[in-house]
Amino acid sequence: MSLPLVFELAAFIFGLLLGSFLNVCIVRLPFHESIVKPRSRCPRCLHTLSWYDNIPLLSWINLRAHCRHCRASIPWRYPLVEFSVAVWFVIIAHRIVQAAVFISAANVTMPVRIDMGVGGGTYLLATLIMGFLLIGLLVMDWQTSTLPDAFTLSGIVVGIFLIAVQALFLAPDEAAIHLDTAHNLRMSSPGSFIDRGNVFLTGPEHLLLGRVAAVMGAALIPLIIRWIYKLVRGQQGMGLGDAKLMAMIGAFLGFWPAVVAFVLGCFLIFPYAVTLLLRKRANRSSELPFGSFLAAGGLLTALIGPALLDWYRSFL
Ligand SMILES: [Zn+2]
Repeated sequence: MSLPLVFELAAFIFGLLLGSFLNVCIVRLPFHESIVKPRSRCPRCLHTLSWYDNIPLLSWINLRAHCRHCRASIPWRYPLVEFSVAVWFVIIAHRIVQAAVFISAANVTMPVRIDMGVGGGTYLLATLIMGFLLIGLLVMDWQTSTLPDAFTLSGIVVGIFLIAVQALFLAPDEAAIHLDTAHNLRMSSPGSFIDRGNVFLTGPEHLLLGRVAAVMGAALIPLIIRWIYKLVRGQQGMGLGDAKLMAMIGAFLGFWPAVVAFVLGCFLIFPYAVTLLLRKRANRSSELPFGSFLAAGGLLTALIGPALLDWYRSFL
């Protein structure tokens, strides 16, 4: 077996294990229960699961989707969440392999060194963690109409932290913003050793301030819709959870990808809402789990966002 294949297989197994943990979060977080204690158990007969009944995917198949003790059925959501996280991990692992191969092709003297720059590395790590959180939020909003802060707010902190790491390792003058030299505005930042042109923002300032602005800008979109909705119809439209979810996507990916995720979420929820209305399963004031669709939009953006933007630009 080739090395990249071993790496991707390891990512799959690691993803399955984390998917199993995500299932625990999905069941407990919306009800503010501890995700550490007690150990996994059947929600009906409260039997603590043995290790052999707690193996991702395999136990569900082996038990034929029923509890060993009380025969209560185990929803297919469990293996699906495990499988989804595993697939997400394989996709990111594959991108790491691609980057490593690309680097080794460019750098013949160090063919086995996996190094794609801190920027590429933190971006892939951000995508990896964001995918895990989004899959969880998608299911939680769908099932319980909640987007727990434990996921959204933590996600914002992790996203900003990863950008800070990237900022620490910037090369001198990398990502700095220079003002037009024709301008006579003199502005230099503390700690800046750059001497040429008028540095408006150093690279680290640009990255960090830009990302903080992205978080606030992304959160504003659902908030503004919420305020307009309240003015027009006198009731709550989008929840605050949606704003925090948008802020989280902004923290991991930046402002414009968050906008793309939002637009995709709207496109995805539209056919769902129309179907519900036509089947008379919902009326105009029904609450829909927009957070689930927004999470799906975020996952799609991380996967095909750049390709999608290129496709859109081809019409301009
Ligand atoms: Zn049971």
